[in-house]
Amino acid sequence: MIEVKELSKTYQLGKVDVHAMIDVSFRIDAGEFVAVMGPSGSGKSTLMNLLGCLDLPSSGSYLLESLDIRTLSPNQQADVRNKRIGFVFQNFNLLPRASALENVELPLLYGRVSNSHTIAREALERVGLAERAMHRPNELSGGERQRVAIARAIVNNPAIVLADEPTGNLDTRTGIEIIKIFSRLNAEGTTIIIVTHERDVASKARRIIQMKDGRIHQDMLAEGIVA
Ligand code: ADP
Repeated sequence: MIEVKELSKTYQLGKVDVHAMIDVSFRIDAGEFVAVMGPSGSGKSTLMNLLGCLDLPSSGSYLLESLDIRTLSPNQQADVRNKRIGFVFQNFNLLPRASALENVELPLLYGRVSNSHTIAREALERVGLAERAMHRPNELSGGERQRVAIARAIVNNPAIVLADEPTGNLDTRTGIEIIKIFSRLNAEGTTIIIVTHERDVASKARRIIQMKDGRIHQDMLAEGIVA
């Protein structure tokens, strides 16, 4: 599903090279639920941006569903991003003037999918929010907003869902509800990669990748260390 090999990212900050990611290699199989942890500045966001095709590596390769992302044109990369990857953010990133249903429908409109209304409604049902379809974000609680964002992320039936601190703006109880939704989606077959600072959240994943200074410090399955 995902194979990264010796992936590195160097940012140029004036005359200084910042080595945000150095020689990172791993595989993630379809159906995995992975938590990425590590201190601030360890390269987690850089990794997510590369996996989400929001940025390109300085060196190394990234295969997503056997597609070599480096060899794609910018348009093809945008296509992969829109159709094969779902994003969930800490601050939800919903359109304020659009209803929950319209927010969820948006990726389908980019992809010119027919039946977009019905498909968006089904995605809202999957996160238990069908009865809030006509509400705008400011009429929803934080947890409900994040559920709308999750519905939007899964509406295209993506290969992977990338979530960057999805419980960071939620209280503990609501955060647990959101993680339960991710767990359920994962049980239904969605591949999920989640960045989190919270041990409780990470403990729901089946694998934890620990980053440190731009490298993988530890890669553990629930059963024990694998790499
Ligand atoms: P994390 O998400 O774990 O906090 P990041 O991936 O954001 O880590 O950052 C890794 C390193 O790269 C840090 O030293 C950070 O300052 C640096 N960095 C991130 N983005 C940029 C950028 N656009 N330009 C320069 N340096 C950056």
